Amino acid sequence: MLKLPVTEIFSSIQGEGPYVGVRQIFLRLPNCNLRCPYCDTVTTAPQQLRMETEAGSGVFNMSENPVPIEKLIKLLQIYDFSLHHSLSITGGEPLLWVNELRAILPFLREKGIKIYLETNGTLPEQLHKILPWVDIISMDIKLPFDGQSFWDVHESFLRSSLQKEVFVKIVVHQETSLTELQYARDLIVAVDPLLPTILQPVTATNEINTPKPYQLLEWQSFFLKKLTNVRVIPQTHVFMGQL
Ligand code: SF4
Repeated sequence: MLKLPVTEIFSSIQGEGPYVGVRQIFLRLPNCNLRCPYCDTVTTAPQQLRMETEAGSGVFNMSENPVPIEKLIKLLQIYDFSLHHSLSITGGEPLLWVNELRAILPFLREKGIKIYLETNGTLPEQLHKILPWVDIISMDIKLPFDGQSFWDVHESFLRSSLQKEVFVKIVVHQETSLTELQYARDLIVAVDPLLPTILQPVTATNEINTPKPYQLLEWQSFFLKKLTNVRVIPQTHVFMGQL
């Protein structure tokens, strides 16, 4: 029996990107192929799945993990799909679970909910395996860290994503270099200068500071010289106190 490890399931408000404010069901999956320095997510698979059945209650049911696929489909339908804009599949990196997702997504789409994929944009081959059942792709462009850069794989991923609705998100902080932003900007321009691009100021941690106001203005202007749709949007769920 096919099973999927799940970190948590809940109904909440999308806090990032151009869909900020819409109501979504969130399906958070564990594990990630990257180690971003600003990561705010525990990516290890918990021993039990936690699920908030009543939105905002802070009360979670705990149940077996990994979850059999049939059971997961039933659990997701506890929420009223008609009240939700889409199902956000997030992580971790959800594309590490494409075989399991292929068993779930066609059924959920038949039930009438859109599929919104949040991804770090580094696994283009895995994307192809679920692309037919995805409606909206929120793709990160990761600026280099720890001596690793992702430009080629990001370009390949972005080109494949054009078959669907896609927008690009770049997390920026006080030490972000203009050279790296130029690489990111020119990559997007090479694929499609009309692509919505979000500069997301990092939510400050002990070691990483959110950009200063003038930096955000300068960087947005820099992107707008070659792209038409560039917005600066922070993680709004953090200051709304949402999950
Ligand atoms: S890709 Fe996302 S989940 Fe993975 S380490 Fe980076 S921020 Fe964390």
